[in-house]
Amino acid sequence: MDALTLAEKWQIKRMHDLLKRQLKRHFGGLDSIPKEWQAFVKTVNDVYWESDRNRIALEHMLKSTTEDLTYAGSELDAQHKRAELEIQNLQRYNRGLIETSLDPLVTFNQKGIILDVNNATVQATGRSREELIGTPFADYFTDPEKARKGAMMVFKKGEVRDYELVMKAKDGTETTVAYNASLYRDQTGGVIAAFAAARDITDLKRSEAEVRLERDRVKVSIQNLVDMQDKLIRSERFAAIGEAAAYLSHEIRNPLMVIGGLAGLIEESLSDDDSNRVNLEVIQREIKRLESMLMNVTDFTRPSRLKRELLDINSTIKNAMTLMENDLRNREINHEQSLDGDLPIISFDPEKVKQVLINLLKNAAEAMPNGGKLVISSWRENGYVKVSFTDSGVGISAEIAEKIFNPFFTTKKKGTGLGLAVSRRIMEDHGGDISLQSKKGKGTRAIISLPIDVVENECS
Ligand code: ADP
Ligand code: MG
Repeated sequence: MDALTLAEKWQIKRMHDLLKRQLKRHFGGLDSIPKEWQAFVKTVNDVYWESDRNRIALEHMLKSTTEDLTYAGSELDAQHKRAELEIQNLQRYNRGLIETSLDPLVTFNQKGIILDVNNATVQATGRSREELIGTPFADYFTDPEKARKGAMMVFKKGEVRDYELVMKAKDGTETTVAYNASLYRDQTGGVIAAFAAARDITDLKRSEAEVRLERDRVKVSIQNLVDMQDKLIRSERFAAIGEAAAYLSHEIRNPLMVIGGLAGLIEESLSDDDSNRVNLEVIQREIKRLESMLMNVTDFTRPSRLKRELLDINSTIKNAMTLMENDLRNREINHEQSLDGDLPIISFDPEKVKQVLINLLKNAAEAMPNGGKLVISSWRENGYVKVSFTDSGVGISAEIAEKIFNPFFTTKKKGTGLGLAVSRRIMEDHGGDISLQSKKGKGTRAIISLPIDVVENECS
């Protein structure tokens, strides 16, 4: 019987029912079925009950399977619920992390459109979540183009670090931020969006600027210190040189006077046509040159006391020019003047400053042995009156330029090397300055400056 299929069993059941109904109708009841039919009916009945037992077993099996399945289903349901709860908790935790962050956090998609923001972003922008979500990330910065580039960069490079931007709040408040961003992905590695954090670095920038300012201040004071040291060394060297020079000039002056006097006596004793007269003239000329050099040295070594007057520097320039006019003409030097007629009156020693101007004019003239051009200018600049002499002479090479202010440094056969040293000392005594700019072979520009403020205070 085991071999019977369900369909066969079903067929048997139908036949059994049909038979029972036919027998009932035919014989008027099961009890009245003739003996010869009884065996047949019994066989059919047996077959039926056998199939029915199978059916019941099957039904039982089905039922227990269904129960198993229902249990498994409810277990699955419970598991699913637990997982859901866990996810919810995790989401709440993540959200909490994001919300408790003091830095503005934003997620945006590949088009740079904001998907979500935290409370810090709401605070920093002065705009609600609803206002922010769905709008371009770049809109909330002073330089939207730079912000847009920064937003796109994260999708290209995978991350962006310390990209500096200035965030602009609704009320106009600007905050300098370092923007950091990276991508977040689904399980398959596909990019979902970019996650960006903006750290306020306004204070950092401010202290950075302060440090820079402080550093500049230190730099200036160091420079001042170096300048002062320079001056000190110079004045010490000057003092030493001065002492030696004063001693030497004292030692030379007397014999020189004796030589000069004796040369005069010899000259008187010579007849007019004596051939030695020419030699004696050379002796006397050289004595004069040495005397004038000694004068220079004394000037240089004597502590200077200024005889200040209130004057227009242009008048002193014109004085000096008158003295040099002949010299310039003889050397075929064209000169041009460009003097500011509105210069303030300033306080200076006119004799000393004239000496400086003559020293500079002489140097310019000597730098143009074959003639050239000289431009004399005066102007007012940053609290100083300035005068410059620009020549088209031989110029000064870089290595020589370092030494030109040293006393006794000269490149000339008959030079004393004192012109610039003396000039610098005079200018510094006035609280002013002297400098030379030069290009070898092109020419030189000497500039002096005298302060204005002293006089303006005196006048008021
Ligand atoms: P000196 O004129 O007696 O040589 P200075 O102190 O006046 O002494 O000048 C020093 C040196 O500086 C000069 O020998 C020369 O080499 C250089 N110098 C100064 N002024 C000029 C100039 N205008 N053009 C070229 N060289 C110059
Ligand atoms: Mg000179």
